[in-house]
Amino acid sequence: MIIDYDVHHGNGIQDIFYTDPRVLYFSVHQAPFYPGTGYSEERGEGAGLGTTINVPLPATVGYEIYEPVFRQVMSHAADRFNPQLILVSAGFDAHWNDPLGQMNLSTAGFAQLTKMIIDLAQMLCNGRLVMVQEGGYNLDVMGACVATCINLLLGDDAAVDSLGAGPNAEKEFHLNAEVLVAELRRIHKLTGYRMRNAPKPDIERLRREMKGPDA
Ligand SMILES: [Zn+2]
Repeated sequence: MIIDYDVHHGNGIQDIFYTDPRVLYFSVHQAPFYPGTGYSEERGEGAGLGTTINVPLPATVGYEIYEPVFRQVMSHAADRFNPQLILVSAGFDAHWNDPLGQMNLSTAGFAQLTKMIIDLAQMLCNGRLVMVQEGGYNLDVMGACVATCINLLLGDDAAVDSLGAGPNAEKEFHLNAEVLVAELRRIHKLTGYRMRNAPKPDIERLRREMKGPDA
């Protein structure tokens, strides 16, 4: 499985594996944007139909959209596909301080998305995960995000976030995350899908928490 959070659609990766059912390609990218491919209707072809998942997002939507897309679409598709290995197209040009991308992710946001991928790799394929550096056009952003990812891969969840949350730019587009996720789950036949390998909730702990500290 290849997870691509670079701000551009990975048209080359998609092309290579478009008819190949052995590789699940998941890409979240800014749209409309270069290279102009990666519509959600592009789902693979022939034997590979269903093993390409594209999530084109309008500029500026930020982490509040990335998070539910990763948690409720990418993770479930990964669980269903059950990969032997996860590769990450680790481009950091969706960062708010990148001069090309306009997706308003912070270093901490990238850290959360990356942590979700690491957890999935541990759950699904014995931690087999390779992160490959892709785009990114601001060296300070690249340094912070790469250092953060290396920390995470070493088991330390400290984000190296020297750049902060960004100027909190006015959003040009407002997406309803629930509607978006439902539509993506419908397109990719994930409606009603539940994670096979999800860790069971700790019912006793939840009970204790609901009762409060005095119970
Ligand atoms: Zn890129």
